Formats: sequence, C-alpha cells, structure tokens
Amino acid sequence: MLEITDLTAHYGPVQVLHGVSLSVPEQGAVGILGANGAGKTTTLRAISGAVRTGGQIRFEGQDIRGRKPNEVAALGIAHVPEGRGTLGNLTVKENLHVGAYLRKDRKRIQQDIDHLLELFPNLQERYTANASALSGGEQQMLAVGRAYMARPKLLLLDEASLGLAPSTAKTVYDAIRVLREETGVAMLLVEQNANLAFTIVDTATVLETGRSVLSGTSAELKGRDEIRKAYLGG
Ligand code: ATP
Repeated sequence: MLEITDLTAHYGPVQVLHGVSLSVPEQGAVGILGANGAGKTTTLRAISGAVRTGGQIRFEGQDIRGRKPNEVAALGIAHVPEGRGTLGNLTVKENLHVGAYLRKDRKRIQQDIDHLLELFPNLQERYTANASALSGGEQQMLAVGRAYMARPKLLLLDEASLGLAPSTAKTVYDAIRVLREETGVAMLLVEQNANLAFTIVDTATVLETGRSVLSGTSAELKGRDEIRKAYLGG
C-alpha cells in the first residue's frame, strides 16, 4: 500500500534523512523505532506532505511525493501528530465531527462515531466535555478517533504513548490494537517504547541518524540482542 524508497529530507541546510526505506502492506501495521532525533517524526511528516523530500513515496501505486498535506489526506492518509493536536476548545463530539469534515455520508459518520465510542468508552463518558478538560490518555484516544473519522486507509501515529503513565499508555495501545483488528485500517507508527509498539505492529524498521538500518518482523527484532539492549530495557 505504501512504499518508501531512499527518502531524504533537509531542514534548511541540515540533512536529517539520508535514505529511509520501508513499506506498509494493505491492512498491515508497521513500526518505526529509533532513538531521539533519528528522523522518525520527519519520516511521517514527509509522507503527509509537511516536509519536502527526495526519494520515492508511493501510495497505492501513485507517486505522492511533493503532494500538499490536504491532497495526501484526501487520498486516505491520516496523521496523528506528536502532541496530539486535538482542538481544546471544542468538545469530544465536535472534534470527532471535525475529523469527518471531508465526508458527506452523514449516516455512516454517526455509525462510525458510535463504533468509536464503543472502542473508547472513556470518550463516551466525556462526549460533551471540552477536549482541553480531558486527561492525557483521553486526549490521545480522541486524537486517534478524530483521525479515524476521516475513514483513512492508512493511519500515521506519532508517539501515542508520549507523556503518558505506563498503564495509560497501555490502555491507549490496547484501544489502537482493537481499532486495527476491527477496521483493518493500515498503520505506520512511530514509537520510542518498543515494547508497546510490538503489541501492535507486524514488522518494524529501525532508524539511526536518518537511515533505515534494520527491518524485520516483531518476533525477529525482539529476539535480537541489539534491539533488546537499545529499546527493550536490556
Ligand atoms: P524525537 O523522538 O525526538 O521526535 P525523531 O526520531 O522523531 O526524534 P525527528 O523529530 O524527525 O526525530 O528529528 C530528526 C532531526 O531533525 C533531529 O536532529 C532534529 O533535531 C532535527 N529537526 C527536527 N525538526 C526540525 C526543525 N523543524 N528544524 C530543524 N531541525 C529539525
């Protein structure tokens, strides 16, 4: 579904991606692992059109490199950025409707909201509360829910566990896993907490200073010493 080959990117004169390659199959879930500053966020931003890049980005057979963010979104790629990006002065309900703004199928929109509220019961309880009044974990669920309301084919998720207590992060990841299982939406997720990422992804790519250095199935990667030492706590 998504094929990235030899991606490069610069911020001003500084090159931060030096050749990132990865692919996400239809309905697959792929992780991007790596230390701070390795280029994980930049890779997601490159896909969604927020930074200019070299190399190839193909989505469903089309070359999408250089497309604008709204064009990429219209093709069916939704991005949940680091820091969540929910609209604090709008309610949970309003945020979910904002996520569906490109859709015309009113009846299906309500069905999707009902489904999401079953998957994320916390949001059901806070449905009419302002997003700014939610806990960090609830805001993260709302950010995922809002992105999902666009009915994307591919969801880009950036550090969904950031700043959350471990038990909350686990709850968020459990909900994301169920979303994947129930809807078949493909996912490309960036995560520093590899243990959490491995609860969802089938395969992962490790980035080091802007390069893909290792890829494999979750089982293969979990078995490798260097991954255990660097990302799994020994
Ligand atoms: P983190 O987990 O810390 O977000 P990351 O792997 O997602 O790390 P990126 O955010 O993609 O890494 O950053 C890659 C490199 O680009 C880093 O060296 C970072 O300092 C630099 N960088 C990121 N954003 C900008 C920017 N807007 N302007 C200049 N340099 C940037």
